[in-house]
Amino acid sequence: MSVQRWVFAAALGLELHLWARTGHRPSFWWRDDDARRPSAALTRLLDLSKRYGAPVTLATVPDEDLAAIAALVGQHETLEIAIHGFCHENRAKPGGPSGEIIDTDTLEDVSARLDLIKRELKKVGLAPTAFVPPWNNLHPTLEKALELHDLELSCHGQMRQMGQRPVRIDTHLDLMRWKPTARFRGTLRLALRARRLLAIRRRLGAWDEPLGILTHHLDHDEATWQFLEFFLSRTVITRRRDCLI
Ligand SMILES: [Zn+2]
Repeated sequence: MSVQRWVFAAALGLELHLWARTGHRPSFWWRDDDARRPSAALTRLLDLSKRYGAPVTLATVPDEDLAAIAALVGQHETLEIAIHGFCHENRAKPGGPSGEIIDTDTLEDVSARLDLIKRELKKVGLAPTAFVPPWNNLHPTLEKALELHDLELSCHGQMRQMGQRPVRIDTHLDLMRWKPTARFRGTLRLALRARRLLAIRRRLGAWDEPLGILTHHLDHDEATWQFLEFFLSRTVITRRRDCLI
């Protein structure tokens, strides 16, 4: 048994047994962030997605090679695009949380930028239905603009809420740690976090509440790639849109 399997079984075995005893199985979906153009790392990611039949939502920064991204969507039926900000530019004041939308931006400003991006995406045949704010910074003005444009939302950490607008589905398991440098989070840390989140869902009877895994193909070290393959080989991944309520 690989170390990853052993750690996962030891950390999650009892929790999964409790789920199975009630006839339920946890559901997962998958988002990958920060694509701008094809790359060797993106090819590796999409190969894994295809090999394991795992649908992936690629949060794409729409400021570079949209035609090349559209071509990838045409080649991979497991691939969906989401809009990852406008150009992933941090416009927040120094010292504050990073974010692309700031207090002086009006709803008209943000809405016009969304209009423009949707038009550019449409030119290459893409019509994404979801928006992923860079740095998970959901400014209230952005939230209003997304609702106006009927775009769904994905950030990090929350459970779904019936009737919430914009419709929102988050990720919960970030495979990487970011400070002081980007690296694999570690199998035990991920397994323990998954256990805690699954236990919350079990106690609430929220059997259909998915866990979202989050990857960043451009930043993966080899340990992250290996964990991702291990995880995909053992897990059924649901399409993002099939997780919406
Ligand atoms: Zn990002």
